[in-house]
Amino acid sequence: MADAQEAREIVRDIFDVPPIGIDIDGTITEDPQFFNLLISIWPAPVYIITFRHDQERAMRDLRQYGIDSDNFELVLVNGHEKKAAEITKRGIKIMFDDTDEVICPIPGNVLVFKVRNDGNFDFPSKRWFYDKNTGIDFDEYVREITRRRESPGAE
Ligand SMILES: [Mg+2]
Repeated sequence: MADAQEAREIVRDIFDVPPIGIDIDGTITEDPQFFNLLISIWPAPVYIITFRHDQERAMRDLRQYGIDSDNFELVLVNGHEKKAAEITKRGIKIMFDDTDEVICPIPGNVLVFKVRNDGNFDFPSKRWFYDKNTGIDFDEYVREITRRRESPGAE
């Protein structure tokens, strides 16, 4: 019987499984048990990418949250926008993150799972937080498109 590593390699070879990226704060912290399972079984490289400065502290925190798998590489970046560069460099095709400033610059060929939490979502009103750099008000967008169609060349 194959051990866990052999089983992951067999699945990866059959299904052409891509590398994945996972944020820590606001992502793994929202459901460490789910992410520990995902990390444990994912048959391709798993990169935990975090905007933190202290590698040892990040590892200690991950263990404290309950991440007991070693099936990942920890990548520290010094800015939200640096994550997109790491995602491209490492061939990550699936990313889990909670911060729009991270998500927006990620290339369009990457599947993004946005994790909802108190920092990005207003639970009482059931609406996302966004600002002019990370979001477009849909009603305003439709009005603008309609105005452009009705008055082409008016800009
Ligand atoms: Mg985060």
